[in-house]
Amino acid sequence: MDDVLIVGGGPAGAIAALVLARAGVGVTVLDRATFPRDKLCGDSLNPGAMAVLARHGLAPAVSRAAVSVRGMLLTGPGGAVVRASYPDGITGCSIRRRELDHVLIEAASRAGARVEFGVRVGGPITERGHHGCRVSGVETQAAGGLSHRQARVVIAADGRRSTLALALGLIRHPSRPRRWAIGAYFENVSGLTELGEMHVRRDHYIGVAPMPGGLTNACLVVPEAIARAHGVDRALERALGADHQLADRFAHARRVTPLAVLGPLAVDAGAAGVEGLLLAGDAGGFIDPITGDGLRLAMTSAELAAAAALESLNGVAGAHARLARRRRRQSGLKVLANRGLRSMVDRPAAVSGLALLARVWPAALAPLANYAGDVTSSTRRAFSEAAIE
Ligand SMILES: Cc1cc2nc3c(=O)[nH]c(=O)nc-3n(C[C@H](O)[C@H](O)[C@H](O)COP(=O)(O)OP(=O)(O)OC[C@H]3O[C@@H](n4cnc5c(N)ncnc54)[C@H](O)[C@@H]3O)c2cc1C
Repeated sequence: MDDVLIVGGGPAGAIAALVLARAGVGVTVLDRATFPRDKLCGDSLNPGAMAVLARHGLAPAVSRAAVSVRGMLLTGPGGAVVRASYPDGITGCSIRRRELDHVLIEAASRAGARVEFGVRVGGPITERGHHGCRVSGVETQAAGGLSHRQARVVIAADGRRSTLALALGLIRHPSRPRRWAIGAYFENVSGLTELGEMHVRRDHYIGVAPMPGGLTNACLVVPEAIARAHGVDRALERALGADHQLADRFAHARRVTPLAVLGPLAVDAGAAGVEGLLLAGDAGGFIDPITGDGLRLAMTSAELAAAAALESLNGVAGAHARLARRRRRQSGLKVLANRGLRSMVDRPAAVSGLALLARVWPAALAPLANYAGDVTSSTRRAFSEAAIE
């Protein structure tokens, strides 16, 4: 039996595994994919995420495969443009997820975590616990067939459509907003700078990030009805070609990867687990990509889940309830702000109002970049203590 079984080897699963392995716990990570693997994402690590990586000694390895991002360019309908730099010496970066996730899972493996790829988890194994259902392991499916894996603690880090959290009724898809994400890499895009870009329009938004190797990540988030009406396979290039800020810059661009499509995006979570099971990363609640802080939240929630797992192994009861409280304390406001922005970009009149504000008073929106970037006192401290390029 494993001490801790982690389902999902993305950033949340890898950070939880790293923390637990370094604490001397027997930990196994199961992932249905074989790494390195691609994953649809805006690929931006904000300064807060860089600070988390620095805490674990991972910032140099990540920075080597990344390009620096020194702030944000925000544009809105009607020509609104806000450029905001992070404070001096503070940066984010952009890195392909196949590189980032590989660096993190390799670090967890070097720290002593067992990593098994190509293993799909089908559901939890449950038994009667002290206060209702208790998770004692998971059912798996791999090349060798079906099997049952027991563990003292299971961490579900299996992403926004978490098989384990769905099976236990811990997450749900809200009826609104129903938005889809469509992304790809391009070459030959002009006008890129050291800023990450978010282009908010009346019924969609487009993230653009400069990538290593001269590539550009472009990612469209659009209501399901519009994606279907225009054809999911044409929606991204159509939106880029019709955009007043981006059409010229993408005029000579060539898409170099297939389109990646995800949806519906929104997932809401209530609890942080049940007895024997803790949620980490997107499995515990997905944050809208508009603020570009999902990776920071995923990794910090994984640190909290690892700490709760350690307490549970030491016989402290109520780990999932404590995890829920700590997550609310650490990121509750951020999640609320993200929900507010998420419902705002669902309303064309609100987007127009914000764009008007940005045109007449751009300085009013500049602090948004630092807020979305998690430029807090602990981020500043991490940058002053560690060498982050
Ligand atoms: C369109 C889009 C753009 C985004 N852009 C950004 C951005 O620019 N910056 C940012 O900070 N965040 C961004 N995010 C958010 C970010 O991608 C997530 O917050 C992050 O991936 C969460 O990490 P995770 O480890 O929780 O889950 P994931 O990265 O989804 O990893 C989950 C892992 O679990 C595995 N898995 C799933 N189900 C099973 C199963 N049944 N059995 C075994 N393994 C399983 C998967 O193979 C995967 O490897 C974006 C998200 C989207 C959708």
